[in-house]
Amino acid sequence: MAEKIEFKTEVNKLLDIVINSLYSEKYIFLRELISNASDALDKLKYWKLTNPELTTASGELRILITPDKENNTLTISDNGIGMNRDDLINHIGTIAKSGTSEFLQNAKDNESAIDLIGKFGVGFYSAFMVAEKVEILTRRADTKQAYLWVSNGTNGFEISEAEKESNGTDIKLYLKEDAKDFTDTIYLRNIIHTYSEHIDYPIVLNLGEAGEETVNRAAALWTRNKADITEKQYKDFYQHVTKNFDDPWMTLHFKAEGSLEYTGLLFIPTKAPYDLFQPDRLTGIKLYVNKVFISDKVEGLMPAYLRFVKGVIDSADLPLNISREMFQQNALIAKIRQGVVSRLFKELKKKAQNEDDYEIFWKAFGIAFKEGIYEDFANREEVAGLSRFYSTKSVDKLISLDQYIERMTAEQKEIYYITGDDAQTLFCNPMLDAFKQKGIEVLLLTDPIDEFWTQTLLSYKGHELKHISQAKIDLSFDRNEVKADDEGLKLLMEKMGEWFKEDAGKVEATDKLTKSPASLTVEDGQMSIHLERLMRNHQQKTNFDSTRILLINPYHPLIIKLSELIKQEEKKDEVKSAAELILAQAKIAEGEAVSNPGAFSEQLCSFILKACGE
Ligand code: ADP
Repeated sequence: MAEKIEFKTEVNKLLDIVINSLYSEKYIFLRELISNASDALDKLKYWKLTNPELTTASGELRILITPDKENNTLTISDNGIGMNRDDLINHIGTIAKSGTSEFLQNAKDNESAIDLIGKFGVGFYSAFMVAEKVEILTRRADTKQAYLWVSNGTNGFEISEAEKESNGTDIKLYLKEDAKDFTDTIYLRNIIHTYSEHIDYPIVLNLGEAGEETVNRAAALWTRNKADITEKQYKDFYQHVTKNFDDPWMTLHFKAEGSLEYTGLLFIPTKAPYDLFQPDRLTGIKLYVNKVFISDKVEGLMPAYLRFVKGVIDSADLPLNISREMFQQNALIAKIRQGVVSRLFKELKKKAQNEDDYEIFWKAFGIAFKEGIYEDFANREEVAGLSRFYSTKSVDKLISLDQYIERMTAEQKEIYYITGDDAQTLFCNPMLDAFKQKGIEVLLLTDPIDEFWTQTLLSYKGHELKHISQAKIDLSFDRNEVKADDEGLKLLMEKMGEWFKEDAGKVEATDKLTKSPASLTVEDGQMSIHLERLMRNHQQKTNFDSTRILLINPYHPLIIKLSELIKQEEKKDEVKSAAELILAQAKIAEGEAVSNPGAFSEQLCSFILKACGE
């Protein structure tokens, strides 16, 4: 008796996208199904090793492609792990992976759908681009019971018990009228050559009476000689392991020799994935032991800040039958990680010589990469050296810390930075006035993560890293301007201290400002205003405010004027009102909100009116 099961809503939506918008790249279904078959063979290989009692599975592992011109069908078979009834329902009938809703949101247009297909476990559904009906006949390697799954891609699917001689899966596609080409052996051979050449198992074309023909070389790509691999083959393999559709930005293929031998074929994508910052996305590396796929979840294999690196690591020196969990603590894994990380750094350094190309990498992965400065204690200088920043002297071209050091001024010892929400706002921060005046470069750091690594990386190549508010450098410069008179200034600052108790713990005069009358900062060693704001926004902060200091520029005409007026009792209200505007302005320059926007704008209007002569 066949059991009828409806597709989940999201599957219906997905099928709709797959069937209706992926029309231009129909052949990708074959790559997807071959890829699934290859995964199923990988799983069986591992299963057999760890469960020696499993005897059902036999025969050479392979993928068989059978076109049938007469009946207009195409069957993709594998003698891999197979599926039982639950597997069929859980893996094929639903989209189990998180991120489905993101897929559906993002895949509004054709191009992004193609880009995203495969990443969310939608690979199988691509069969419906070419098939009006799909049958899956499958038997799991640990049972004799087979199942038949049938669907036309619109009204759910049916499952019934069935007979199958051996373990594995046959996926039979009843081709649509316009997909008849896929029974043509020349065409099929061509597609397999182009897209699945790197597959580790023989892909055999069933030519009926003419026999069988193995189409690919069936040698795991990473085991082959570099010189024999074309860029195209690397790219296809990259797309196979990552399920991405872009080009690899970097390809690194190496053999490590010595006491511990392993091979790595690693890639950095060109584009950042949507889930770069999802906490469960910790690794992108598939671990093989002597060509047997073990796991793609071995956490210790790659540090989390390099989670965007994808590919394969294969070592014959690892124990094969320890459990996947055990790998986490394995000392050899830690050793491999060390070796791989240093190779990656070396390669990145090479790539960094081409600044424009490196910028592509930095813009996609820089934020994640910088986590390494505080996570990877041993390598933090390396990571910092490979990091890129904007600065007051380079607002739209990224620079390195080494470039920064090269152009430090003669008296400068420290590396200066300022943190905030965006580079343009930061660039106009009044606290930078004196630095600009003296030609001292300041890094403009705008990622939330910058607040954290700057607390750990205390120096780089012997130069201390300092927030500008903590700069130990003489920032005074010759001023031949008029200064507010001492007595008036003192009184003004006293009054401001009283009025603005809430906003500033202290009011101090400074000679670091030029164009601005005032600026806000914090006491040495305290949490910066920007970090406080970040934490406030994430509700992580309640009441541990740093002591804010309102810095006053005694050379500014406004301050000079107010220092005069404050001495006249009858002008007190006017001065207070003007001082309030100065405070608000200082807050805005820091990226803070004014306490009472309504009152602020009223006050501002009345001042403007006065200025207009009203
Ligand atoms: P993905 O391959 O990204 O997981 P698919 O939609 O292509 O997504 O496949 C969903 C799941 O169905 C696979 O993860 C696997 O568990 C199962 N599956 C698909 N094809 C096969 C097959 N040939 N043999 C065994 N299981 C398969």
